[in-house]
Amino acid sequence: MAHIIDGKVISVQIKDEVKSMAEELSAKGIEPCLAVILVGDNPASQVYVRNKKKACEYCGIKSLSYELSAETTEEELLSLIDELNAHKECNGILVQLPLPKHIDENKVLLRILPEKDVDGFHPYNAGLLSIGKADLKACTPAGCIELIKRSGVDITGRNCVVVGRSNIVGKPVGMLLLAENGTVTTCHSKTKDIKAVCKEADILVAAVGIPKFVKGDMVKEGACVIDVGINRMDNGKLCGDVDFDEVCKKAGYITPVPGGVGPMTIAMLMNNCIVACRKQNNL
Ligand code: NAD
Repeated sequence: MAHIIDGKVISVQIKDEVKSMAEELSAKGIEPCLAVILVGDNPASQVYVRNKKKACEYCGIKSLSYELSAETTEEELLSLIDELNAHKECNGILVQLPLPKHIDENKVLLRILPEKDVDGFHPYNAGLLSIGKADLKACTPAGCIELIKRSGVDITGRNCVVVGRSNIVGKPVGMLLLAENGTVTTCHSKTKDIKAVCKEADILVAAVGIPKFVKGDMVKEGACVIDVGINRMDNGKLCGDVDFDEVCKKAGYITPVPGGVGPMTIAMLMNNCIVACRKQNNL
């Protein structure tokens, strides 16, 4: 039976570390501050935004909240971002995705100053990640690395396989594993014989978006399996991209869904707020 990596426990550890870093800043008269922008009334986004604001409160990070109507124009959103870019006290800007269809997401993300891009989605930060020099790393991928490292799993020299090549998860996870000296292979929808590739993995990260995609016979005995997938099933329950019941019998380490990677994203966002705040204050 695999060791179950508890993302709830590890995310609280990280938030507690963030809290003490925020206290250190506060002792210097600096209050880390995150602006959270929500456009429209997507119920899932409302929950995410609420959780981000709660995490800020827990960590001692000030949050500025902007809840805009679904009719907000692209121009209006861009001018709010310009305002926050210029706002000295605001260290991070987070625009909750997805945005309503009439707003160009790319244009909006590009408008956020890279040093305030706490989601790590700006091409400048993605570029820094690819040369191993990023301060602001995409939160979910950075969370995966923390889960692996804090579980005592060594990445150096290990075969790491990432299933999925999206810009927000698959690619940055691969870059971060490479930066940790893993030997990285990325699989995607056009990969031939995924099972054979996955079976070679000492560390396997699934970010596919297909429930129970990774089966027991795709996993090497003792592997560390990180499940990024969040799939909402018809019964309302969440299901990962890994067939947990099968894979936990073979893996050495496994993350559950929910309670694995999910809680790490917000914890890493909080950490990025501190990173951004320190940098902006030349600390
Ligand atoms: P995406 O749809 O952008 O990318 C999916 C990737 O999987 C693509 O690169 C595609 O090539 C690959 N893929 C699709 N079908 C495949 C197949 N049959 N075989 C091999 N590869 C295949 O998704 P994403 O945004 O990267 O998200 C992936 C999953 O992670 C989703 O379930 C999403 O909900 C979840 N997610 C979780 C968090 C979190 O905080 N835990 C954050 C972001 C995304």
